[in-house]
Amino acid sequence: MKTIICSIQEENVEQIAAKAAEIWKKGGLVAFPTETVYGLGGNGLDKEASRKIYAAKGRPSDNPLILHIAAKEQVEALVSKVSDAGRLLMESFWPGPLTLIFPKAECVPLETTGGLNTVAIRMPNHPIAQALLKKSGLPIAAPSANVSGRPSPTLADHVIEDMDGRIDMIVDGGEVGIGVESTIVDVTGEIPTILRPGYITEEMLRNVVGEVDVDPAVAGSVSAEIKPKAPGMKYRHYAPKAPMVLVEGDDATVVEALNRILAKAKKEGKKIGILASQENAGKYQSGIIKVAGSHRDLTSVAHNLYRILREFDKEEVEKIYSESFGGEEFGQAVMNRMKKAAGQQIISARTLMDTEM
Ligand code: AMP
Ligand code: MG
Repeated sequence: MKTIICSIQEENVEQIAAKAAEIWKKGGLVAFPTETVYGLGGNGLDKEASRKIYAAKGRPSDNPLILHIAAKEQVEALVSKVSDAGRLLMESFWPGPLTLIFPKAECVPLETTGGLNTVAIRMPNHPIAQALLKKSGLPIAAPSANVSGRPSPTLADHVIEDMDGRIDMIVDGGEVGIGVESTIVDVTGEIPTILRPGYITEEMLRNVVGEVDVDPAVAGSVSAEIKPKAPGMKYRHYAPKAPMVLVEGDDATVVEALNRILAKAKKEGKKIGILASQENAGKYQSGIIKVAGSHRDLTSVAHNLYRILREFDKEEVEKIYSESFGGEEFGQAVMNRMKKAAGQQIISARTLMDTEM
């Protein structure tokens, strides 16, 4: 398939939105920027389009898709019930990086929801996403526009790397803002439950609806026997090709441990990647050092993370060691993505010095 790649500017938004709508109406796929990451969109009410999305991504078909809409009024037709908490959260955070899970209406095919009787919906606030969604009038199923398991795309180039030749069109709207996926909250039960942390934090949600639960799978404690509520959680995700390890500890010990590893790797001619903080980057003596951002500003880390993981892939490093970023609030979303990229491999700098030397 020949993929149309077009760069969107203020002058051609209408024209490109019309083209995207035409493709979606015919059952085709269009990748487009949102405020979180690039999405791979298809008509969410068309089961064939959903099948094409799974095929293009190589995504397991029990990992459900999120519907993207242009206006809150579209929700009624897609769900069988909106709880009070659901309504409050829509009013407070839409448009924006918050996905809500509702009981689904008949018209939403099980192919879109990964076989579940619930449906995930979000109203993005990115102007290009809004223009395209509005023009089509359709609920657009749009998972991240990467091959399943790889880091989500934050630039059109990443989408081209993964999807060129597999989909009808890629809309290049430049670099996305947030850089990690939306917060997902299940509002089907009594108490709203966070299934995936994101830019909208637990505290922000609490301020609106009072009590909020966090699904145990968020902490990474999912075993093969437990069926997680957000099925995506059971898969390795956001991962670079090289194995990645998160190193915890105070700055001085982390830097010392990593410098010892780098010295050894240099002698052996091995290529090691370091995902460093702005604060410590200058202290590493060799290796391929990439600055994720500042420990004091985790939005910068979120913004850069996936791009850097892809850069490490291109440079073919053998192993990646990352400083550990995270903490309260938005830090939870950043840490969640880093742990998944590392396949939950976390080690203390002390242990690293004891075991690897
Ligand atoms: P993404 O990979 O960013 O498209 O996000 C899709 C993720 O949303 C899935 O992996 C699930 O974790 C979650 N999700 C989508 N639909 C549902 C649903 N009906 N119930 C629970 N989680 C859902
Ligand atoms: Mg994804």
